[in-house]
Amino acid sequence: MLVLKTENLKKYYGKGENLVKALDGVDLEIEQGEFAAVVGTSGSGKSTLLHMMGGLDRATEGRVIVGGKDLFSMKEEALTIFRRRHIGFVFQNYNLVPILNVYENIILPIELDGHHAEKGWVDQIMERLGLSEKKYQMPNQLSGGQQQRVAIARALATKPALVLADEPTGNLDSATSQDVISLMKTTSREFNQTMVMITHNEEIAQTADRIIRIEDGKIVRR
Ligand code: ADP
Ligand code: ADP
Repeated sequence: MLVLKTENLKKYYGKGENLVKALDGVDLEIEQGEFAAVVGTSGSGKSTLLHMMGGLDRATEGRVIVGGKDLFSMKEEALTIFRRRHIGFVFQNYNLVPILNVYENIILPIELDGHHAEKGWVDQIMERLGLSEKKYQMPNQLSGGQQQRVAIARALATKPALVLADEPTGNLDSATSQDVISLMKTTSREFNQTMVMITHNEEIAQTADRIIRIEDGKIVRR
């Protein structure tokens, strides 16, 4: 089943002499359960692509379809709700809420959506990410790798169609990076969870099941 599709996706910034074609006609298809890396050098268009795939910013031209839904056909409010329900985000800086403990951070997206967390499911993801012992700890009591595992658990909590990770290991040392990536990979397999991460790090990219390469806003390997 196709989870994500981009069609002739373009994103231009600026105009005239300052025109930057950050994305210049990107066509991609990502299937259910894939763990894919988008790799490219700085300025190649990775962040822009991630923003488009997550409906965080609108395209200049083209479409992004997630779970059969055309993101840019939705109005802002509907898009915000869709995003919260169906797309999980993992950021380089973890973005945990400092005044909430691990468990509260993980269930936050479920509660924001007006639902109660299924205890069994939350316990399962905490267990899978090795967080069961940390349930009541605050983010500032955790290492970077632990904080990123909480962020991954939070991204999985709503059982989203798609998890998007923006340089998830960007702030971690290389051993911790490998741990975090291999956990992403195993959770992706175990839960048949589609994940797309962007990275400039070739070594990290190599650990993905599929490597998509971007150069100057164009896909050169898919
Ligand atoms: P990457 O994530 O691979 O470093 P980006 O998607 O951030 O690449 O950037 C792609 C290109 O678009 C770069 O040339 C960058 O300078 C430019 N760019 C990104 N965002 C903006 C913006 N908001 N305004 C103008 N140019 C931008
Ligand atoms: P990342 O570390 O995720 O690659 P970037 O440094 O590429 O992030 O971009 C951080 C933010 O700055 C993004 O929101 C991006 O759109 C914006 N940005 C990137 N390049 C430019 C630019 N040349 N001009 C204006 N904004 C930019």
